[in-house]
Amino acid sequence: MEFAFSPEQEELVRTLRAFARRELAPRSAHYDRSGEFPWDLWRAMGELGLLGLRAPVQYGGQDADMVTMGIAIEEVARGDFACTYGIQLAGLAGEILGKNGSAELCTRWLPGTVAGEIVVALGLTEPGAGSDAANLACRAERQGDEYVITGEKSGISLAMAAQAVILFAKTDVTAKARGITAFLVPLDLPGVARQRLGDMGTRAVGRAVLSLDHVRIPASHRLGPEGTGFYQVMQGFDYNRLLIALACLGVAEISLEETIAYVKDRRAFGKTLATFEGVSFPLAEAATLIDAARWLCYRGLWLADRGEKYTKESAMAKWWAPKLAVETIHQCLLLHGHYGYTDELPFAQRLRDVIGLEIGDGTAEVMKIVVARELMGREFLPY
Ligand SMILES: Cc1cc2nc3c(=O)[nH]c(=O)nc-3n(C[C@H](O)[C@H](O)[C@H](O)COP(=O)(O)OP(=O)(O)OC[C@H]3O[C@@H](n4cnc5c(N)ncnc54)[C@H](O)[C@@H]3O)c2cc1C
Repeated sequence: MEFAFSPEQEELVRTLRAFARRELAPRSAHYDRSGEFPWDLWRAMGELGLLGLRAPVQYGGQDADMVTMGIAIEEVARGDFACTYGIQLAGLAGEILGKNGSAELCTRWLPGTVAGEIVVALGLTEPGAGSDAANLACRAERQGDEYVITGEKSGISLAMAAQAVILFAKTDVTAKARGITAFLVPLDLPGVARQRLGDMGTRAVGRAVLSLDHVRIPASHRLGPEGTGFYQVMQGFDYNRLLIALACLGVAEISLEETIAYVKDRRAFGKTLATFEGVSFPLAEAATLIDAARWLCYRGLWLADRGEKYTKESAMAKWWAPKLAVETIHQCLLLHGHYGYTDELPFAQRLRDVIGLEIGDGTAEVMKIVVARELMGREFLPY
């Protein structure tokens, strides 16, 4: 058993920690307030190779292992949570498009995504289908050499900035999950409309509703055979849930470190705050839980790299880590007293940001259904 990163991975941690501190953290509050998409940060991540980790090498990617993905997202989160969406979504695009798209589609979309010049969103959720993700209403109907897509996707991260979306639609309305097919849909086509949602957090990347009204795309934009879309996205979600968990923990870790420094310095009743057990015990508890959650995530990614099953670990980490991060950041905010409540310190923004991923990619309840299914078997599912 080896609980250590390799020397190369340690070097990656050092490089990205410095990048997050120098390039991301100083601009995070600005982008949160303005709601502008941080194209400069995306390009900077592209230059460092962070947006091509899961893309095939021939399209500029690195085909990196999952543990490396985990390190990248955990470190970037320490500087800016919104930027972790870049690693997630470019990773999913690299994976889904790279494995299922034609060479022509990959050549058109992947190098730009890897460079941080193109954003490809992922459109699964609909107004009437979130947790019950196979129950899609969006339809793709084959007409000769084209598909005609009609429907609405809701809550789609990055959708205001994106030039394309990997979209999931029903090609067989009589089937549930096996009737879902993935498509690459450019967002400048006639019939596409988008509307921004007024989110409480991660405002720099934002989310939107995408409406598609008889949008025509060439059949060559289908990703993989008909009926394989749900499988593709669920495979991606298995590891993406671990990445989300590590992103949340990255923010919790930096908050904890800053708070430890603060309470060692701030004085009350003639002593530093750190001297009071009412202050130090919650920090000790948070550090314990973060350490446990973090190693659960890396264990899941390690299993993934070995080609072993890790659905249970991924769902465990996804329900626990975002909740733990919310609780930790809340505690850190409180330990900064009234300063913690201002927008001069990052805790309020971090709290707003992290709450989003208690929901995104599957809520805690849905994750516990997955854990229970893996523990007890499908026959004990409620449906
Ligand atoms: C920050 C953020 C980013 C997102 N990004 C994307 C994106 O890029 N692409 C995309 O496609 N989607 C995205 N989503 C959508 C997200 O995946 C869905 O919001 C999520 O799957 C939950 O679906 P819902 O919102 O429809 O909630 P619902 O499914 O309506 O659930 C509402 C509540 O009921 C609970 N619930 C539902 N079913 C059960 C059950 N069987 N047992 C117990 N409780 C249950 C849920 O846990 C939840 O608390 C994002 C969401 C957020 C918040």
